[in-house]
Amino acid sequence: MSGAVHINTAELFLAGQDGSNMMGSPLGVCYPTTTAEVQNAVRWARSKGVPFIARGAGTGLAGGAIPEAGSLVICLTKMNKIRSIDANRRSAWVEPGVLNADLSRQTSREGLHFAPDPSSQQSCTIGGNVANNSGGPHCLSEGVTSAHILSLEVVLPSGETCTFDAETSLFDLRGAFIGSEGMFGIATAIEVRLVQNPPHVATMVVGFASVHDGALAVSAIIAHGIIPSALEMMDAPITRAVEEYVHAGFPLDAAATLIVEIDGLEYSVIDGSRQIREIVSLFGATSFQVAETAVERARIWKGRKTAFGAIARIQPNYYLHDTVVPRKKLAEVLSQVTAIATQEQLQVMNVFHAGDGNLHPILMFDKRVAGVMDRVHRAGAEIVRVSLEAGGVLSGEHGIGLEKRDFMRWMFTENDLLFQQKLRSAFDPDGISNPHKVLPRGSGCSDTASIPPGSWI
Ligand SMILES: Cc1cc2nc3c(=O)[nH]c(=O)nc-3n(C[C@H](O)[C@H](O)[C@H](O)COP(=O)(O)OP(=O)(O)OC[C@H]3O[C@@H](n4cnc5c(N)ncnc54)[C@H](O)[C@@H]3O)c2cc1C
Repeated sequence: MSGAVHINTAELFLAGQDGSNMMGSPLGVCYPTTTAEVQNAVRWARSKGVPFIARGAGTGLAGGAIPEAGSLVICLTKMNKIRSIDANRRSAWVEPGVLNADLSRQTSREGLHFAPDPSSQQSCTIGGNVANNSGGPHCLSEGVTSAHILSLEVVLPSGETCTFDAETSLFDLRGAFIGSEGMFGIATAIEVRLVQNPPHVATMVVGFASVHDGALAVSAIIAHGIIPSALEMMDAPITRAVEEYVHAGFPLDAAATLIVEIDGLEYSVIDGSRQIREIVSLFGATSFQVAETAVERARIWKGRKTAFGAIARIQPNYYLHDTVVPRKKLAEVLSQVTAIATQEQLQVMNVFHAGDGNLHPILMFDKRVAGVMDRVHRAGAEIVRVSLEAGGVLSGEHGIGLEKRDFMRWMFTENDLLFQQKLRSAFDPDGISNPHKVLPRGSGCSDTASIPPGSWI
């Protein structure tokens, strides 16, 4: 095959990990620079009977990029060119290794941006966003990644290439591929939809005396017919941690803080801000600030998006969870999450996409403490259980990967799983593209690899 396969210990160690607390042990890692090189890598792996796995920046939190033992990691970070920008059509063709934030930086001179904005956007790739159908604070009004992908060039697990296009295909295979977590092949070129930068923006920071009041205000804003561009919540412990870290100006006396952003034409932004102020005051808002300048807005979002960096100052390890619950159950499930963490003697903080009910409890720990990982896993499973019991779902945006694979039966019937497996087999009959992910064992799974997947560390 063209392009070297690297087998030195340091590279294998790095390619064996992602943003989760898991670890795999690959056979080798390669860094293709063209679609043809990706094809060569896939064909080489096939010819040797070796499973392979696509990798972007490795920021995934569900273990999706953890390689099967003995597999080939195909790392796409060197395919990082923006091939073309069509400002009239509001689209761009990009390679999978382009960083999310770089794409919006490059298109800003056309007054455009790529709407999905994960908090990891400075380091995660568009290929990873596609594979995980990623979201972000500003996906509340704009929709997650699947709403922003027009076409995909894919190297299938057979080594052939195919183009999946939303407009010209009979079946929406583009839609099927998005969120397939590397199990349907490797995206080698991606046509993204770009959206116009808003002419006016108002970013509000609202404090509440309790999480319950803040959660009720979230439901009331949406019930009022207002869909903010972002509606995020932070509890008091994470607000304190962020303030100490970046001094974003969040209220330190609040039990819950909402970041509410609306955008559009000037009059609708002014009117929307007024309505939001009225609604939150009905729910006992204790403070209300509006960012006056772009610099103030940037500081608020820096605070929100570096929350995970802030907690590194408190404990060396964290497990960032991801479930979704109905908005009206937010307060109830959050208090259950606190009770679960207390029961397992773990610190927990919450910073999350409140507008779409997407919870992100952060369990903090020091993995050097004996037995702590058992407590972390028990707490994680309980959080999944209470979220599902509240009528929620397993994941809002991080995907299933290895982390939630064994919870799939808590949510899906055997028939549901069988049909998902059949779709997977249509793309990858031999089960060699990122095997053992997402679909639990025994769900008609055709994965051939016999080596166990990566394990928790
Ligand atoms: C601090 C932090 C904050 C985060 N915040 C958010 C957030 O707000 N919203 C959110 O949705 N996620 C968030 N994430 C999770 C993560 O950043 C996203 O899932 C991201 O899209 C992963 O991109 P990546 O390039 O790192 O992919 P990787 O982690 O490398 O891979 C993820 C999955 O995609 C597959 N894959 C990668 N590239 C390709 C390709 N070209 N073709 C096919 N499959 C491919 C891999 O096999 C794997 O299954 C966060 C992570 C961190 C660490």
